[in-house]
Amino acid sequence: MKADVAVIGAGPAGSSATAVLAREGFDVVLLEEHARPGVPQHCAGMLTKEACRRLGIRVPRGVVQSEPSHVVIHYGSTSFKARLDMYVLDRASFDQYMAETAVEAGAELLTGHKVIGMRRSGHGWLLSVRGGPELASELVIGADGYKALSLRWAGLERPSEVASCLQYELKLDREVDQDIVVCYFGSSVAPGGYAWVVPIGNKAVRVGLGVRKASKPARFYLDAFVKKEFPNSKIVKRMAGLVSTSGPVVPNYTGAYLAVGEAAGHVNPLTGAGIASSMVSGRIAGLIASRALEEGDFSALRLSEHYTTWRSVVGRYHELAMEVRRALESLTSEELACLVKDMSRGSSKSRLSLTALSLLARNPKFVKFLLKVRELKVALCL
Ligand SMILES: Cc1cc2nc3c(=O)[nH]c(=O)nc-3n(C[C@H](O)[C@H](O)[C@H](O)COP(=O)(O)OP(=O)(O)OC[C@H]3O[C@@H](n4cnc5c(N)ncnc54)[C@H](O)[C@@H]3O)c2cc1C
Repeated sequence: MKADVAVIGAGPAGSSATAVLAREGFDVVLLEEHARPGVPQHCAGMLTKEACRRLGIRVPRGVVQSEPSHVVIHYGSTSFKARLDMYVLDRASFDQYMAETAVEAGAELLTGHKVIGMRRSGHGWLLSVRGGPELASELVIGADGYKALSLRWAGLERPSEVASCLQYELKLDREVDQDIVVCYFGSSVAPGGYAWVVPIGNKAVRVGLGVRKASKPARFYLDAFVKKEFPNSKIVKRMAGLVSTSGPVVPNYTGAYLAVGEAAGHVNPLTGAGIASSMVSGRIAGLIASRALEEGDFSALRLSEHYTTWRSVVGRYHELAMEVRRALESLTSEELACLVKDMSRGSSKSRLSLTALSLLARNPKFVKFLLKVRELKVALCL
């Protein structure tokens, strides 16, 4: 088998890159290890409308399970509510829609094709596929998600830090508010991460959490959370996965290879959201790879344009999100509780308590954030 480009992984990143390349007329093969893109589902499906508007993401109605307009943040006994319009996606349907779009553009989708290795051949690559013939391609785009094995095969570093995530779909004995996503923070709920409750209609929710550097596995915390918040529920689906939390992998390119999406750490380091940024990462890869193919230049230098472009569109907001995370992590639990209490009273600066003001004065990073409120709002949405 031969192709101009082999894309490993039919998630949002891989399908986005493939669609761009196919529209440009290149011979592109999209390899997916599972029988259907998006299955098994490994995501809560939250995608903010602001990200869609900013990044030109079209969401077909058929894949939307709910459209919450607010998020409620709990920390200990304190909470606050904030406006955040979003779609909750059925990721299996969304990923299938994305892969079909790539196929309609002219790409070949090979499901049930797990790539198990790759090696350099001439100026391109030879990919080994479980149970199938080898595939020769001029360029490889590694969109293989959190497993990110293609980076290792290409001789690059993989994301250095991950959050371990577990999620259940619960059938409830009652309806829940479809307008609200609820997030719970605190070391007893989800150390180093947070728990979420996402409405998906019809007396059902997605409940999950991510933990980092926790003393116990994610399952311990999720089972305790479900027992406390939804004692009469029934687990109908379980899904586990990792989310990269160390920021972008640099470099995410080498000769004739580009890593994109979750594999390249293109995930919001504060929220763990990666659908929107992975799609952008994939699209940019499609464009850069098209130009590289036209010019016959597959050098690392040529492909490095992917990182600089992605950084200018999304990455700089993720850097801000990382700064916020680090600043929040530097606070004591009393200081955090104080901030959340202030947020619950209102977001206007004049309503901040003296404790919060002294916190800002002591920590110059927080003062900087006050001056960057607009960018911060974007950073939370992407
Ligand atoms: C529990 C959980 C909840 C999440 N919730 C949200 C959320 O609400 N909102 C949000 O924005 N993000 C969320 N994320 C993160 C989000 O799911 C990812 O960032 C996003 O899916 C990344 O897209 P991707 O295309 O890079 O990778 P993926 O969507 O992971 O796609 C990678 C694809 O590659 C395939 N693959 C892997 N290895 C191979 C191989 N060797 N050969 C062939 N195919 C291969 C996989 O089967 C998969 O289809 C969540 C993650 C987890 C774990």
